[in-house]
This record gives sequence, C-alpha cells and structure tokens, in this order.
Amino acid sequence: KTLIFLGPPGAGKGTQAQRLVAEKGFVQISTGDILREAVKNQTELGKKAKEYMDAGKLVPDDIIIGIIKEKLQELEGKDIILDGFPRTIPQAEALDKMLPQVGRTLDGVILFDVPDEEVIKRLSGRRVDPKTGKVYHIIYNPPPEGVEVIQRDDDREEVIKKRLEVYHSQTAPLIEYYRKQNKLLVIDATKSPDEVYKQLLSVVK
Ligand code: ADP
Ligand code: ADP
Ligand code: ADP
Repeated sequence: KTLIFLGPPGAGKGTQAQRLVAEKGFVQISTGDILREAVKNQTELGKKAKEYMDAGKLVPDDIIIGIIKEKLQELEGKDIILDGFPRTIPQAEALDKMLPQVGRTLDGVILFDVPDEEVIKRLSGRRVDPKTGKVYHIIYNPPPEGVEVIQRDDDREEVIKKRLEVYHSQTAPLIEYYRKQNKLLVIDATKSPDEVYKQLLSVVK
C-alpha cells in the first residue's frame, strides 16, 4: 500500500503513522524527520535545509523530491506512509510521475482535518524523545517518568504561525488536487488519538 498523510503541522500525522507502523507493518517516510536528522549530523543536506526549517518555510522542492526518489527505490515492495510529503503542487506532480516508475499506485490521501486553534495548542505543547523519536504532549500525552524530552526549534510561537501560513498557502491546494483524483479521504483529527486511529483503520482497510 501507498498512503499519503496530509494536514497541517501538529494535526497528529506523525503520532498516527507511528501506530500504523507498530501495528500494521507500514514504513513511515517523514521528510521532516529525515531533514532534522540531516541537520543534527551537519550533512550537506542539513546545512542547506536548516535556515528554511528554522524560519518555518518549506525546503526547496528539488531537494525534497530527490530525497523521496531515493527512499522509494530503497523501500520497493513495502507498505509506506508518506508523512509530510508532498507539501506543494510541484511535489505532488513529481510524485505522480515517480510512483509508476517504482511499481506503485496511490491508495489514498488521508486528510487530517483540524482547525488552527487546535494546531497551535498541539504544537506549543509538543515534546520529542530525541533517542527514540517518540512524540509526546505536555498535557495530552505526557512523557513517562524518566524519559527526557526536548522541544523542537520550530515549535516556538512565531515559527508556528509562519508554518500555518505556509500550510494554508502552499499545501492546502493539494486537498483539491487529490479530491479531483478521487483519492482524498477526510478524517476528523480533533478527536482523541484512539478515535483518530479507528477512523484511520476504517478508511485504510
Ligand atoms: P510537522 O510534523 O510539524 O508538520 P515536519 O516535521 O513535517 O513538520 O516538517 C518540519 C519542517 O521540515 C517544515 O517546516 C519544512 O521546513 C521541512 N519540510 C518537511 N517536509 C517538507 C516537504 N515535503 N517540503 C518542504 N519542506 C519540508
Ligand atoms: P514569504 O511568505 O516570505 O513572502 P512566499 O509566500 O513566497 O514567502 O512563500 C512561503 C515560503 O515557502 C517561502 O518562504 C519559501 O521558502 C517557500 N516556498 C516558496 N515557493 C516554494 C516552492 N515552490 N517550493 C517550496 N517552497 C517554496
Ligand atoms: P504532526 O506529525 O501532524 O505534526 P504530531 O503527531 O507530532 O503531529 O502531533 C502534534 C502534537 O499533538 C504532539 O504533541 C502529539 O502528542 C499531540 N497529539 C497528536 N494527536 C493528538 C490527538 N488526537 N489529540 C491530542 N493531541 C494529539
């Protein structure tokens, strides 16, 4: 299977992807995780990406498309979730060209529907365990005793606002794009993680 998780930052895409990986054997391709790893390791990619990410802007399409091409080749035959990609129309068009080349068809695009106010609450309380990559929230899903968590650089208030602007201007047009392809599956992501997961399973099947 080939799934896309679409939705604003903080909608719960990563949280749900981690569960689908653990319980259903999917592999998650998170462009955000790949970029953060590159920044941490100070690779060429990381050096190029850092300033865009810190400003809440999108990393240029050609860089991202190159990363995805490589991952799709590496993961041939596996069930995958594209989490955080595509994020622009040019990225979606590039993906449409790439998929048949690696023997895939797109099964569905899951839209995590959640309003901006909720996104702001989720992102400002988000914390991550840098060792495992597991995602927590200071109120909704506090880390267990003894787990050291950090806040992402781009989960600060000013950057959150910019990321939401970028989502509405550059990524939201993908909703129409996939609706026209009859691929769009909308889930109510304001619900609890368990309820969102149930909706996800019912549309993925
Ligand atoms: P979130 O999970 O909060 O939606 P991500 O981890 O997906 O955020 O992305 C963090 C940052 O990485 C983005 O703000 C952007 O700078 C960069 N990024 C991730 N995926 C893409 C992409 N597909 N295209 C361009 N930039 C991306
Ligand atoms: P600003 O909000 O600074 O005026 P824009 O509205 O032009 O910038 O675009 C928002 C952000 O998205 C830009 O800062 C840029 O980094 C990024 N961006 C613009 N066009 C693209 C594109 N085609 N692909 C990826 N990222 C882009
Ligand atoms: P995304 O990958 O879409 O950016 P995350 O999965 O990282 O979103 O979730 C953003 C924040 O919201 C995290 O702190 C996470 O623990 C929390 N969160 C995720 N799903 C829910 C939910 N259904 N209800 C409340 N908080 C949630």
